[in-house]
Formats: sequence, structure tokens, C-alpha cells
Amino acid sequence: VMETPAIETGVVVKLDRGFPLVRLGDGRELRCEHATSLVKGSDQRAVVGDAVRISLPDGHDKGIIEETLPRRTSFVRKDPTERALPQTLAANFDLVIIAQPIEDINTRRLERELVLAHETGAEVLVVLTKADLMASPAEVEEVRSHIDGFVGNDKLLAISDRDEASVQRLAQIIAEGDKTAVLIGRSGVGKSSLVNMLVGSDIQKTTAVRGDGKGRHTTVSREIIYLPTGGRIIDMPGVRGLGLWDADEGIGAAFSDIEEIAASCRFRDCTHTNEPGCAVRAAVESGDLAAERLESYVRLREESAQVKTRREEAERIRSRRGHPRRRR
Ligand code: GDP
Ligand code: ZN
Repeated sequence: VMETPAIETGVVVKLDRGFPLVRLGDGRELRCEHATSLVKGSDQRAVVGDAVRISLPDGHDKGIIEETLPRRTSFVRKDPTERALPQTLAANFDLVIIAQPIEDINTRRLERELVLAHETGAEVLVVLTKADLMASPAEVEEVRSHIDGFVGNDKLLAISDRDEASVQRLAQIIAEGDKTAVLIGRSGVGKSSLVNMLVGSDIQKTTAVRGDGKGRHTTVSREIIYLPTGGRIIDMPGVRGLGLWDADEGIGAAFSDIEEIAASCRFRDCTHTNEPGCAVRAAVESGDLAAERLESYVRLREESAQVKTRREEAERIRSRRGHPRRRR
């Protein structure tokens, strides 16, 4: 009689050297490998945060991932040139935390990060790090007011590694509802320092900022870090290639201020560039909306539309060659 190996469900808590570490319901952690049916390169391969079904064959030192369950939310790196397949980096998180240094906010990048964060389907929070580098609380407020149109004041937090209370405010947000948070932001913004403070010990290596102001990447594995105050965090160092890909929903959410005004434009498909009766341009003229914000919005929408066209062309070419699907 063939013994059917036991099947259990777990969560991928760490991914390094290709063998996912899976945490089972009872808290045990087990190294696993993928079943051969989960083809290399397919999106069925498990990533951090994935819920998986694993079998435990007798006499085998690893579990076998038989199935990756559907993802509630996911962070996907997409190559706008279409040369590489989209790559899922993390799954099933509740909150994306975007870190930007308060003394050197990169507005363009922040807008892009917001689009990508909203595109995941999770809640979004912006953390302004190194608040101690500002001369006064008034200056902090000044910066905050400058970008609160981007996310709303209640989704904006100033934090410093010299201000334990500021870190605890973030810890509380993550703990509420037992959330899993994903932390993104360019290298050197203070992500590792933040994780260490949330954990209460130096588990992440921090980087000395180089002369050019950029840190180096030190973390290589992706893992879910369980926080003593509740909830979990995934540090995503150096997410490069923040390419957009049909990001209309993300753009809509990241620029909800503009989309609200656009509801009053005369034409439903108004591009807010030269149409008569455009409420958005009127808002810029009256000073209710920053001109740069409209520029960013138009630029990102164009980028998203171009990527969509390019991808559709690539698909047409592939199907004409008789390869409707990619083979691997
Ligand atoms: P990561 O690359 O995003 O992980 O950034 P790190 O956590 O390694 O921090 C980069 C540099 O910024 C290090 O030299 C930290 O000591 C410094 N740093 C981090 N947080 C703060 C902060 O709140 N205030 C100040 N002044 N420096 C900080
Ligand atoms: Zn318009």
C-alpha cells in the first residue's frame, strides 16, 4: 500500500539559497524544496509571505512545497522592457511602509514608490526617517505639510533613531491588527536601523553612509521578522527597477487628490493637457493644486500607457511566431 505523505499548510518566512524556510501552524520551522511540478521561473515558486501546502515524505530531510496558495497582496518587480518575467518579491502583507529621509526627500521617487505600494493592494504608510536632522519640530512640520497631499497626514510618520517614542508609534501601527509590513526605500535611508529598533536588538547590519550619500546593500535574504510588540516586518533592501506596468490603479490611488478634481472635468477621458472645461488645470491656475504634482501624474500615466502598448506589441509578435505562451 502506498503511503500518502502528510500534507500541512505553512508560511514561507525566509528565502535564501533557494530553500524556503516554512513555518508550520504549530510554530515549527522546516526547510523545504519545490516539487518538480512548480517549474523554474514560474510564478508558482514560493516567495516570502506565501502560504504553501507542503508534503512531508518519509525519510526525507526537507518538506516539499506542493502548492503556493493564491496571494492576497503581492509586491512584483516588473521589467518594462519585457526581457525578464515579472518577479514576485513578497506576498500576503497588509501594509507597505515607504521610508524616505526627511532631510533629503526625493519627490519623484516617492511618487513612484507610492504608485507601486498602492498597486500591491495593501495599506500604505510613509515614514520620514532621521527626523533628528531637522533643526526644529517646526521644520519637521513644514516638510510634512509639503508632502501630506501625497498620502494624507494620518499616513505620514516622522521617525528618528534618537526618539524611542517615534519608533513605538510605528510599532503600534504594525501591532494593531497583527499586520505584516513590507519596508521599502532606497539604500541608506535607515531601514536596517529602523528594523533593529523595532526588534529591540541589532539583527540587521547597518551601513555607514558612503561619501556619495548612498549606503551599500548588506542584507541578501528576505525574511519575515517577528516583532516583540506584535506583527511582522519584511525588509526589502534595494528594490531596483521600479518599473510601472499597467499601474493605472496604483496611480489612481497615489494621486487620489487629482482624480477627485478630475471628476468635474467636462470630458470623462480628459487628459488635463489641452481640453476645454478641465477642472484639474483650473485647480492648478487657482493655486489649489501644485503644477509639479499634475506634471508627475501626467508623466506616470504616459509611462504606464507606453509600457502597456509595448507589452501588447510583444505579445502580438510572439503569437504571430506561433508561440502564444513563453516556453522555458
Ligand atoms: P538602510 O540602508 O536603509 O538599511 O540604512 P541604515 O539603517 O543602514 O542607515 C544608514 C545610515 O543612516 C547609518 O549610518 C545610520 O546610522 C544612519 N541613520 C539611521 N537612522 C537614523 C536616524 O534616525 N537619524 C540619524 N541621524 N541617522 C540615522
Ligand atoms: Zn481635465
